[in-house]
Amino acid sequence: MTAVSEPVKRVLLAKPRGYCAGVDRAVVAVEKALELYGPPVYVRKEIVHNRHVVESLRERGVIFVEETSEVPEGELVVFSAHGVSPAVRAEAEERNLRTIDATCPLVTKVHKEVNRFAREDYDILLIGHEGHEEVEGTAGEAPTHVRLVDTAEDAAKVEVRDPSKVVWLSQTTLSVDETMERVDQLKGRFPNLADPPSDDICYATSNRQTAVKAMAPECDLVLVVGSKNSSNSQRLVEVAKQAGARDAHLIDFAREVDEKWLEGVTTVGVTSGASVPDVLVMDLLAWLSERGWGDVQEVTTANEKIAFALPRELRSV
Ligand code: SF4
Repeated sequence: MTAVSEPVKRVLLAKPRGYCAGVDRAVVAVEKALELYGPPVYVRKEIVHNRHVVESLRERGVIFVEETSEVPEGELVVFSAHGVSPAVRAEAEERNLRTIDATCPLVTKVHKEVNRFAREDYDILLIGHEGHEEVEGTAGEAPTHVRLVDTAEDAAKVEVRDPSKVVWLSQTTLSVDETMERVDQLKGRFPNLADPPSDDICYATSNRQTAVKAMAPECDLVLVVGSKNSSNSQRLVEVAKQAGARDAHLIDFAREVDEKWLEGVTTVGVTSGASVPDVLVMDLLAWLSERGWGDVQEVTTANEKIAFALPRELRSV
């Protein structure tokens, strides 16, 4: 009788994954503020969209607030990596708050594009998710010029003042492929639609999607470490499925993996969103190893070397 060999269980680990330069900078900025000024340090919204990061900082004396109006007069507040509108800055100034701006420079770049096109009186079609903090901040730069396009239905309905003077810009953390679908749809309606001067979807978002696409066709299951409110992490789940993974799930922690997902699975793909510290991925690998998936092969599609200087307010101290 011939022995039937068991399929070899393995993990494909995407690279790049996890922390991007903007998230790293924002988290270090809060840590530095804690070190320099001591707790409490107020942060408007979650500094980055990750439960582990937010809970760890909270334990160290950070108070997260929804709005600057909740910060006592004269205190220190950090603006999150997702950016804020001019109205929020003005409110902070009125209330004499000391501020540290941890907005990612790649989000600031989109704010500047909005300002430039608004000055030239373009209508700006901002592709992004309604209600996302980044979109609120970006649109707030020129609310009368920006029209938000979230769904295909929005793209079919959006109206502009002058179809010959219209440009599209986008949130930094969208699916590259879906955004291009939306742009094609908009160009069908507005043939003179101008493109952004450079890509708004950031290098980290697109690199993580490319890595997941490379491994997904070989995966029975892809596990994305990331929080539910993290746009780029959610997109990785969608991209994995679209690229051929049989199944894909978003988890904050290894303990959230449902063992049923592993039934009949040989190859597990692992990646993480741009706001996820690698320690959480290592925990997941250890969890998988205990269950027989100890063979880990890295799938590398890019080597990232980008780093950003700390916010201006922290450079001179
Ligand atoms: S995901 Fe991109 S835009 Fe967002 S913080 Fe990271 S580098 Fe900046």
